[in-house]
Amino acid sequence: MRSHLLNGLTAEHYRSSVTEGVERVAAKLATTDRPFTGVTVDTLAPRVDAIDLDRPLGSATAVLDELEEVYLRDAVYFHHPRYLAHLNCPVVIPAVLGEAVLSAVNSSLDTWDQSAGGTLIERRLIDWTARRIGLGPAADGVFTSGGSQSNLQALLLAREEAKSPSPAKLRVFASEVSHFSVQKSAKLLGLDPDAVVPIPVDHDKRMQTVALARELERCVRDGLVPMAVVATAGTTDFGSIDPLPETAELCARFGTWLHVDAAYGCGLLASRTYRHRIDGIERADSVTVDYHKSFFQPVSSSALLVRDAATLRHATYHAEYLNPRRMVQERIPNQVDKSLQTTRRFDALKLWMTLRVMGADGIGELFDEVCDLAARGWELLAADPRFDVVVAPALSTLVFRYIPAAVTDPAEIDRANLHARRALFASGDAVVAGTKVGGRHYLKFTLLNPETTTADIAAVLDLIAGHAEQYLGDSLDRAS
Ligand SMILES: *Cc1c(COP(=O)(O)O)cnc(C)c1O
Repeated sequence: MRSHLLNGLTAEHYRSSVTEGVERVAAKLATTDRPFTGVTVDTLAPRVDAIDLDRPLGSATAVLDELEEVYLRDAVYFHHPRYLAHLNCPVVIPAVLGEAVLSAVNSSLDTWDQSAGGTLIERRLIDWTARRIGLGPAADGVFTSGGSQSNLQALLLAREEAKSPSPAKLRVFASEVSHFSVQKSAKLLGLDPDAVVPIPVDHDKRMQTVALARELERCVRDGLVPMAVVATAGTTDFGSIDPLPETAELCARFGTWLHVDAAYGCGLLASRTYRHRIDGIERADSVTVDYHKSFFQPVSSSALLVRDAATLRHATYHAEYLNPRRMVQERIPNQVDKSLQTTRRFDALKLWMTLRVMGADGIGELFDEVCDLAARGWELLAADPRFDVVVAPALSTLVFRYIPAAVTDPAEIDRANLHARRALFASGDAVVAGTKVGGRHYLKFTLLNPETTTADIAAVLDLIAGHAEQYLGDSLDRAS
């Protein structure tokens, strides 16, 4: 069994094993003609359940064959140009190479003595990101598992900085279309069940700052404490960007922590063309970035940045066995002092490899391409009488619905759109997402693949219309 341990004696086994896995995936990439096979849970679950985990197959080849049956053949492939659903990106090769290196070396970024250079690389990337944001000389941050964890940590710091003796009085303001992790974080942080005050959005799905000002005033008048405002720079559903400068003004006026959730919009930090769309982000106290959304990085790769490094102390605990207090005096850089996690992946390496091979402009160009694609998709939708489209994209998301001219029952239109999404998924021809707007079902394209063309968008719209029409036709038949 020792031949399976990665070490000097097994270097050749490692090479051949990993190469074999890479060959399989490469072959898959070359032959995948749909983003999904349309496999159902009922088909796949028995195959997974039938595998006896107490009877190993022994060889990687046999296991890769088996994996074909239970995973590789039917996986949802984000690299396919007709995967248009969620905030998942196709990944860049230098980052995948980084992933292979970081798993094999297996550094853990909690302490210097488990990581060495990895710690310094992560710190450089945090500084690089903070500089791109414009957070100033005292900025710092840490890589996290994702935007949800970044938001949680940001609100933890905000809660501590609010220095309120009664947590029940703390209030957090976020637009009604902010990410649900804001509410989940408030709950985890022991805030009042009504702590998160939803602020209405305007026509473009941006937080209404007039309403925000009103709520902040009401909060103070009621003797409550405005702990934080969360501005979203790229909402999950619409890609809309809250008015950052006005929000920053209000935060300054009320002495409130400004957290900018740029999990999606952070890609603009690398854009030479559209960076101005997130102007004002430099005034944040903390910022969430998800490199695994708009920097084309594999999951996970994310970070929390803060304006003032000292605020990270709220996440600091000293364990004698790991990061005793004396190490701070000795200036030993233990990243665990800044993190909610202890053992932690060297995800930063993926971004490092990406920047060293492609440069930031390379990433920015890819993100610009999908933003441009969304603009063209919006024109298509706006000109097509079969569809109603919600907002012109600020990033790369399109929210729309099929609206048959002959049908007036809104519930029937909802069902036709739901059916179209399901039928499309079952066919595997394309994968699209859905959401609700004003209580009605809509469909959503999150465009993160520069390989997707306007022709793909037009073709998928035709498929959607076809499925919806089919449903409505069948529904007429059922009624008569
Ligand atoms: C995706 C997203 C999150 C959550 O990030 P994860 O990496 O999925 O945990 C938070 N905020 C926004 C705006 C997002 O789009």
